[in-house]
Amino acid sequence: MTNPKNKMLCMLGGGQLGRFFVMSAQNLGYEVTVLDPNPKSPAGLIANIHICARYDDKIALDQIIGTCSAVTTEFENIPCDTLAYLENSLVVHPSAHAVSIVQNRIKEKNFLEDIKLPTGPFHVIKSKEHINLVPKNFYPAILKKAEFGYDGKGQIHVSNLKELDNAFVKLNHAPSILEKKLPLDIEVSVVIARSNTGNYTYFPVAENQHINGILETTISPGRVSDSIACQIKEYTHKIAKELNYVGVLAVEFFIVNGNIFVNEIAPRPHNSGHFSLDSCKNNQFDLQVRTLAELELLDPGFHTNTVMVNILGDIWYKGGRIHDPNFDILLDESNVNLHMYGKDEPRKGRKMAHFSVSGENLTDLVLKAKTLKQKLVS
Ligand code: ADP
Ligand code: MG
Repeated sequence: MTNPKNKMLCMLGGGQLGRFFVMSAQNLGYEVTVLDPNPKSPAGLIANIHICARYDDKIALDQIIGTCSAVTTEFENIPCDTLAYLENSLVVHPSAHAVSIVQNRIKEKNFLEDIKLPTGPFHVIKSKEHINLVPKNFYPAILKKAEFGYDGKGQIHVSNLKELDNAFVKLNHAPSILEKKLPLDIEVSVVIARSNTGNYTYFPVAENQHINGILETTISPGRVSDSIACQIKEYTHKIAKELNYVGVLAVEFFIVNGNIFVNEIAPRPHNSGHFSLDSCKNNQFDLQVRTLAELELLDPGFHTNTVMVNILGDIWYKGGRIHDPNFDILLDESNVNLHMYGKDEPRKGRKMAHFSVSGENLTDLVLKAKTLKQKLVS
């Protein structure tokens, strides 16, 4: 008889990425235990078991050890001590080691330098002395807190020494990275899945457009040359290999005057990989399940050009009162897919859902996606 534990996977984190993982795992015949302190977390709501507790709750972690076979996560801010504790008893992908590097921008940048991949110019800022060492011609720049930032949070744009001083105070003197603001030609990202035997496969390089530091649109495949796409995939594989990474990993890149810079690494599926839900035979969450359960790693099987658009909580607040947007605009279209995240409360800046438009001609798809978004918000 098979051990029933083998069919129970654990997801640390209950957001929308965790929710899509639960759906994929259940489709593939697995059950999922979700750990998340929020009783109404999107993934917790559809999990086989939701343990509603903190990520460092020993009783919860021991329950996972007693009932699950393998553990993964959907966000980089998971405490590494939690991963390390679980690693003593269970398969944990990605490892505490890999997550500890990419959850801290200073360690991440040092790692990228160590493996000789290009990053934009930056300074580590941990004190007033560090601030004084920043050359005058480094501005405009962006001060980014080393830990716990996402969707542009924990970042302050600065254009001179005085603003940098103030920004560092505003971030409570938290260790940070100061990045030179780059004139971006285009932003792209790529999602890679790597198995425990070192096999790997990529999703197409995607093109990303942000508004106020939050991803707004992803165009897949991205409109970059074959040679750039190829180089980006090589860089991504190098990162995964050097981290000894097992699971799904996303890397964001900046292209500036035709030069590629690594922006940041996410140890999980990525918002910019959501196109795969509608354009691939095996989406990024299917491959997260496969790498975690140590099943054969299949290729994504990309079959249809797709443009993805995020839907933020802001559009619930039109005209000074809260009301549901008119999603019929999307549901009436045959080549459009809507994915709601099951969040109870729409908040401004909060990712509530996304939609994707699939078809042949990318230019037409981009136009249609923008038109639909405009209709939804107006
Ligand atoms: P987050 O963790 O919030 O995604 P990022 O570092 O990726 O943080 O920054 C969010 C967005 O802000 C980027 O996708 C990009 O659009 C813009 N941005 C960040 N750093 C720079 C930079 N050095 N130069 C130009 N734009 C930047
Ligand atoms: Mg980013």
